[in-house]
Amino acid sequence: MERWPDDDDERFEDLFNLDDPESLLDWNEGILLALLDDIPFVDHHVHAPYREDGPLSLSDFRRPFTESAIEEVWNVQLPSQLGYRWMVRELALLLGVEQTEEAVLEARNAMPPAEYHRMLAQDANISAAYADDLFALGECYDISEWSELLGCPVYRVLRIETFVEQGLEGSATLEEALERLTAEVAGAPENGIISLKSIAGYRTGLAFNPPASDTRARASHSYNASREHRLAGGWGRIADKDLVDTIVWTALEAAAPLKLPMQFHVAFGDDDIVMTRNDPTLMRALFQHEAFRVVPLVLLHCYPHHRKAGYLASIYPNVYVDLGLTIPIVGPGAARVLEETLELAPVRQVLASTDGHMTPEFQWFGVFVWRQAIVKVATAYLEMGALAGEDAEWFAESILKDNALRIYPRWT
Ligand SMILES: [Zn+2]
Repeated sequence: MERWPDDDDERFEDLFNLDDPESLLDWNEGILLALLDDIPFVDHHVHAPYREDGPLSLSDFRRPFTESAIEEVWNVQLPSQLGYRWMVRELALLLGVEQTEEAVLEARNAMPPAEYHRMLAQDANISAAYADDLFALGECYDISEWSELLGCPVYRVLRIETFVEQGLEGSATLEEALERLTAEVAGAPENGIISLKSIAGYRTGLAFNPPASDTRARASHSYNASREHRLAGGWGRIADKDLVDTIVWTALEAAAPLKLPMQFHVAFGDDDIVMTRNDPTLMRALFQHEAFRVVPLVLLHCYPHHRKAGYLASIYPNVYVDLGLTIPIVGPGAARVLEETLELAPVRQVLASTDGHMTPEFQWFGVFVWRQAIVKVATAYLEMGALAGEDAEWFAESILKDNALRIYPRWT
């Protein structure tokens, strides 16, 4: 059994007689929460917020809580979304103002952005952020700026489909594009990349096919079409299944010698998502491929397929379940979703991220809800005797930081 003995254990021993199960019945959630607030949070999947050049508008303040592109959703529906309402209340407490959107927005806009970002990061006790920096390119803080704002290190996660799109003009053929991708992944230690990320879930779904004799020709054809579109002034969006599957397979082959993790967008997101194609059990070809067994495959978000993701983690040693984005958005349902995930997922394979994006408070609130959920779940397990008192800290530390620190490399 894994435990992480350190000086902090004394805090638990001071509070509870660990040899006497009866003493645990006096368990106090408030005390546990205070202890868990001291555990740093490693945010293993997140995006830098938008650069703030002026006061944040109310609709931009609400935006991270929905990936809907329909304006009515963030203007009309979001104020009655419970996770969002909870964030407003908690932010108001932190800022010492009335618990209304208007008061919170006014107070946060009155603070210098650098001071506000740092206050939130310190309150959340964030010790590192792993940033997918090809999201909303050019609109967000870059990695060094954001690291300065947070006051902690920020490491790069490479979004592979976007990386190939960025090279459409320079790479004349699919072969050249794949060579460029392989070189970037193989150079991860020098390039400061600590993980790959695939958005295949958005583009063509998760039912990856292994390379077959006729796949490459179709993928090449599709790459050429995307390239022509780009050369004609368009985006050249890569959204062909053979091409996306080829990119993912190539990236995993390059990642294997480095044991470099790959994150996958799984399940809910914006209205591009076809949920039936975003079921992680469709990824079987990747899980079954022996050569990829050394690559940690990190399933991001997962809702509402989190139980299936937990099942996959229980049968494949390199599958990890994350509940980022899910945890802040389900808000009051967070503990239940975490418990459902843990029905099958071993604790060592559950990771915490926020998927913070657009605003700094969404990341802050994500960490807050993660801590609340862990306390609720740990308390319930302690009371039923499923978790021993001395393991409560191991449980929380594994999910909040240690699992991420174990599977992602730290290049020096
Ligand atoms: Zn994300």
